[in-house]
Amino acid sequence: MLAYTYEARGRFVLTEKPKPVVRDPRDAVVRVTLSSICTSDLHIKHGSVPRAVPGITVGHEMVGVVETVGDAVSTVRPGDRVAVNVETFCGDCFFCRHGWVNNCTDPQGGWALGCRIDGGQAEYVRVPYADQGLTRIPDTVTDRQALFVGDILATGFWAVRISEIGPEDTVLILGAGPTGLCTLQCVLLRQPKQVVVCEVDPIRLKFVREHYPSALVTTPDKVFDLTRKLGAHGGADRVLEVAGTPETFRLAWQCARPNAIITVVALYDGPQVLPLPEMYGKNLTFKTGGVDGSDCREILELIAAGKLDTTALITHTFALPDIAAAYDLFENRRDGVIKVAVSCGGREQ
Ligand SMILES: [Zn+2]
Ligand SMILES: [Zn+2]
Repeated sequence: MLAYTYEARGRFVLTEKPKPVVRDPRDAVVRVTLSSICTSDLHIKHGSVPRAVPGITVGHEMVGVVETVGDAVSTVRPGDRVAVNVETFCGDCFFCRHGWVNNCTDPQGGWALGCRIDGGQAEYVRVPYADQGLTRIPDTVTDRQALFVGDILATGFWAVRISEIGPEDTVLILGAGPTGLCTLQCVLLRQPKQVVVCEVDPIRLKFVREHYPSALVTTPDKVFDLTRKLGAHGGADRVLEVAGTPETFRLAWQCARPNAIITVVALYDGPQVLPLPEMYGKNLTFKTGGVDGSDCREILELIAAGKLDTTALITHTFALPDIAAAYDLFENRRDGVIKVAVSCGGREQ
């Protein structure tokens, strides 16, 4: 089968590999229908994910149809359409029992797919702990609607859940990339008093204006004054930092009102400065990433109910043999790209 493979730093190539098989009774093999490219894939390509194993198939955001299951798998059967979770988790350890599946202590726990074990930018993928890692897609939900459930939509949903957003809140989202947009949709579900989206890229700002007219948009140079003016108590009540630059990290705590919650979803290239003397007395609560991807069923139910729909984020579609061109477009942010879908051979529904 065809598999997009991390060969060495800076080099991904489309290679021919054997079709994966069930190795453990808790495994499933999924025929991939649609896969996507995530910024984390670019981090692997550029060598900033040291635990990524050369030779692995990349891709951790995908939907498909179950092909085979191990004897111990009970929640999915061959033929089921499924969303694949970015995280592998055992469901039994201390962290899993608390819902903190990102910190699953199993050797295969956490972000393994497309990083430490073969992922889904391929025709087939083996998913360990399939009872936890696969969620059946309701019949009324399309593959495109479900494509981001296991990764960026799970991230936005989790970030909103831990941000404790209420109806009186002014919520600031820093960054309107794909994960920022998923976070925005999940924030809107909570119906806070107002939502401000801060972004520097005019294409992304236009996208927010067109698709989410109830959100106010602003740019980093104006966001501090705007949140001071809009927030009833000297700033934003909740800040979700999804951009990941030193400037947005600084804005996150500067734009927050005293006693605000700041949820840092972003992944930074390096350490950030937390100037405690400057923020003394502000009594801020910081919560940090990465996602506990344990809400996939609830997210799919919200999609089925028409409350979440991220299909507009898919601005381009490529076939697996053309995946290098898809990466080129996504990485260089050409042609107004937000997200790319890659058709991997399974029949899309
Ligand atoms: Zn990702
Ligand atoms: Zn676990």
